[in-house]
Amino acid sequence: MTIDPRKPYDPDNIFAKILRGEIPNNTVYEDEHVLAFHDIAPQAPVHVLVIPKGAYVSWDDFTANASDAEIGGFIRAVGHVAREMGLVEPGYRLLANIGHDGGQEVPHLHVHLFGGKPLGRMIAG
Ligand code: 5GP
Repeated sequence: MTIDPRKPYDPDNIFAKILRGEIPNNTVYEDEHVLAFHDIAPQAPVHVLVIPKGAYVSWDDFTANASDAEIGGFIRAVGHVAREMGLVEPGYRLLANIGHDGGQEVPHLHVHLFGGKPLGRMIAG
């Protein structure tokens, strides 16, 4: 099931529960603005999710409503995680699914960070 990126934030979504510590996660990085953790169902040898700590449904919500500090902190953190995981030299892919056509399933903004092998074509099908 996919979500509407314009809907009000659902505080019971799975990533909100992870941020509150109600569900465990395999953390790779955390700071005041973000949490990064391994995806539970990895689709590449490296598959990390980077999420803002603020309550934003989607990239659309985040870029319209987050502060400059939150946006700057989030984008810098994505780059930091990729560097720390040794992905810059071999290369990697970032992906954010937004809404129905984007196939977004969890209604809390997340950027997927994929790496660890050549990733092939950008969009399948
Ligand atoms: P979306 O389709 O919304 O862009 O991606 C959601 C991602 O969240 C999927 O890759 C899925 O495997 C991951 N995911 C869903 N539930 C959990 C969970 O409880 N823990 C972790 N670590 N990842 C999850």
